[in-house]
Amino acid sequence: PAHRARGRARGLDVPDDLPRRGDRPGHRRRHPRPARLRRFAAVVDDHAEELARLEVLEAGHTIGNARWEAGNVRDLLDFAAGGVERLNGRQIPVAGGLDITLLEPLGVVGVIAPWNFPMPIAAWATAPALAAGNAVILKPAETTPLTALRLAALALEAGLPEDLFQVLPGTGPVAGNALVEHPGIAKIVFTGSTRVGKSIMAKCADQVKRVTLELGGKSPNIVFADADIEAAAAAAPMSFLDNSGQDCCARTRILVQRSAYDRFMELLTPAIEEIVVGDPADERTQMGPLISRAHLDRVRSYVTDDLPGIRGKAPEGSGFWFPPTVLTDVPEDAPCAVEEIFGPVAVVLPFDDEADAIRLANATEYGLSGSIWTRDVGRALRASRAVKAGNLSVNSHSSVRYWTPFGGYQQSGLGRELGPDALTAFTETKNVFISTEA
Ligand code: NAD
Repeated sequence: PAHRARGRARGLDVPDDLPRRGDRPGHRRRHPRPARLRRFAAVVDDHAEELARLEVLEAGHTIGNARWEAGNVRDLLDFAAGGVERLNGRQIPVAGGLDITLLEPLGVVGVIAPWNFPMPIAAWATAPALAAGNAVILKPAETTPLTALRLAALALEAGLPEDLFQVLPGTGPVAGNALVEHPGIAKIVFTGSTRVGKSIMAKCADQVKRVTLELGGKSPNIVFADADIEAAAAAAPMSFLDNSGQDCCARTRILVQRSAYDRFMELLTPAIEEIVVGDPADERTQMGPLISRAHLDRVRSYVTDDLPGIRGKAPEGSGFWFPPTVLTDVPEDAPCAVEEIFGPVAVVLPFDDEADAIRLANATEYGLSGSIWTRDVGRALRASRAVKAGNLSVNSHSSVRYWTPFGGYQQSGLGRELGPDALTAFTETKNVFISTEA
């Protein structure tokens, strides 16, 4: 009305039905997708404690970890929501016209999740896939379907269109395989064992189906003699004991320069023995039980009583308990030193110099994570370049942030999740040339 009045005051012929600024098509219209995803994030936040308690119940995660996991889902949804408005195509200079790229959604994305971090790993793929305009069918692991089902209910509560995000519980060979083989599924994001990942990749080849794989690991923790040995020894236990070692990024090969070996072990021994293992619902607990009897038996099969090393404490009696364990004096190629145990077990191997450290670090078919402890910045950079792994940390063991890329080299995976390009992994690039000469 003010504009109309000013126009008329200047003698202009201003009709009464002149559209107002907000009425123009597209003007002030909010993109519904980020708004919905932000609402979903808010609803998850409102239910964070409930989701965390579910994770403690079904996966035995410590309550502290489970709270972080629920918060991670919220943050991922928020982050992905912001990505919708930044999912920019490009404009490429060409003669005789205009060339633009469109980033189009793939269609329906099948997400096959493992049991070790049921909530975050489901969300790593689901949030950016939805944000990029896809629908998602999530197949949780057999042992951990509850948080996935609850998240789908919360999505509806947040106003996501019905069926846009569905959960399909069931076994891997039935429900998981149905997603892999169905021609209506455009992409599979699989997180789990390297063995199953390979078979899924082979099946996807049949339809040239897009695939992202997040697989196993046997990650090195390289401690050079010039490092802050106290800090390295203090950080080493939880770098492979977090989530009872059921973590694909666990630093389970501790490589220590020979000249610092004795000092490091002197500090590591009490640190391992003091780890509090027990009821995951207790706030003081640092490590809970393993996921199942079958998994406990598998972990046990790697650690016979005769193997030398450090054993921490664990509760006796019922429950799938296994003590924090560090094995020493094992051959470099022993099964416990090369295979992913996926339990609270690490090996310590000595090395002579930088070249020897890199050789040992890369003596694996995996390549997911790794840590480098040194005070020499040149060595930190050389080692960061030389170690074949997707996620390295220097003087720290952190490797997963939702806004930095995550994924494996070699047989640890294919493709990247999270980070600034998370949404583009769920798009197809279409190039369009528009002639200006027609
Ligand atoms: P898994 O491979 O047995 O199962 C993972 C998922 O795949 C489950 O949902 C399972 O039901 C499904 N599945 C099994 N067989 C299938 C088939 N034939 N077709 C389709 N789906 C099938 O692994 P797991 O024991 O649940 O998880 C532990 C593994 O996951 C470890 O090796 C670990 O390193 C890996 N992991 C990797 C990452 C990563 O980001 N790289 C993260 C977490 C876990």
